[in-house]
This record gives sequence, structure tokens and C-alpha cells, in this order.
Amino acid sequence: MHGRYRCRALPRSPARRLIGAAALKVARYLLLVVVAVAFAAPSRASEGYLRPVVIEDMTFPVARSTWFSVINFTDDWHAPRMRFDATTRRWVQDGVHEGNDIFAEPGTPIHAVYPGTVEEIGWLFYSGWRVGIRGDDGRYWFYAHMRRFAPGLGMGDRVEAGTVIGEVGNTGYGATPGHSDEFTYHLHLGIQETDGRWINPYPLMRKLYRQSVSEAQ
Ligand SMILES: [Zn+2]
Repeated sequence: MHGRYRCRALPRSPARRLIGAAALKVARYLLLVVVAVAFAAPSRASEGYLRPVVIEDMTFPVARSTWFSVINFTDDWHAPRMRFDATTRRWVQDGVHEGNDIFAEPGTPIHAVYPGTVEEIGWLFYSGWRVGIRGDDGRYWFYAHMRRFAPGLGMGDRVEAGTVIGEVGNTGYGATPGHSDEFTYHLHLGIQETDGRWINPYPLMRKLYRQSVSEAQ
């Protein structure tokens, strides 16, 4: 015996055809929405930052965006740090990390944590574009690896908690000003006591971040 089986779709009722057409329309609409959101995303990311939450004269230094926020930081105090030895042309461990690295998208605004006066602004080999602020408390607040400074910011300028001082970048580890791409985008925040000791900023950063999340919705 041999035979042929013919595959034939069952005739569709008018009602089923209508449902099918409606489903197709919904699918097309959803596709349009997805495409529209994808195209709108970059402009929303650059505009939609939440206002800094200032509590007791302090604010978290990395701005949160209104529609998503990619901020990531852990307690990396005293993690080993490497230095490039120009003589041997090798990376060698040189001390430990004296700050807190807060990872965020490039271009995210950086806010001054605490009020003070700009004491240093410019390029450093390991810090890249950095701003040092002498806080009203006498401590030195150090912000490094910026992509750029806030327009017009200069030595002696007064900043308040929440003043935008620059943007998150990945500059540094280079003699040429503007050198970048040696590591991923983050803000290095350092806090130096009046006696010269650097202290671990992480407990303060964690507290400020939690406040900004709970109060900025
Ligand atoms: Zn760091």
C-alpha cells in the first residue's frame, strides 16, 4: 500500500480570522513601542536624572536616573592596587585602594557629597581628571577618573552638597591628559582626614545611597 497524506489546514471560521487579524495588529503595535522606546532611551538617559537627596549636608555622589539606574559599588577599601613600573615595564602592586569605586554609566553626573571649596582640579597620572574639594569640615573630598568637569568649575569655587562637579568617566593611568579606557567607568571617591589619613568611604556611601533610593522615588 502506498498513499499520500495531504496536509490541509482546517478551514478557518470568520471569527477566528478576525481574532488572528487583531492579534497581528497588537503584535505590530508592540513592536512599534519596543522600537520607539529603544530609540528614545539615549535621550531619556541624558535628561532624566533624579535630584540629589541631601540629608545632613550630604548626598550620594553619583546621580540616579529616572528610568533606570546602573550604580554598583562594594566595599573595596584596601584592595591591592597595581602600578606600572616604567623601568621594568611591568605592573607591580603598589599599596592598597584608599577609596571607594562607584561604577556607573559614562556621563552620569557626579555630585559633590559635602559642601566646600575646590582646592585641586586637573590631571593626575593615576586619577585622570580629578577634583579635590576642601570640605567645610576640613576633610579633603577627592573625586577621580572623570570624563569631564562641570563647565566653568575652577579652583576656589564654592560647591554645595549636590552641586554637579563633573561626569563619570574612565580617565587615568596615563601621562597624557585625557588618557582613558584602562578600566571600566567609575567614580573613585576618597576622603582624607585633616591629619592626612584616608578613611574608608564605603559605610557613608552605603548609607547615602540607601537614603537616595528610599527618598527619591
Ligand atoms: Zn578607586
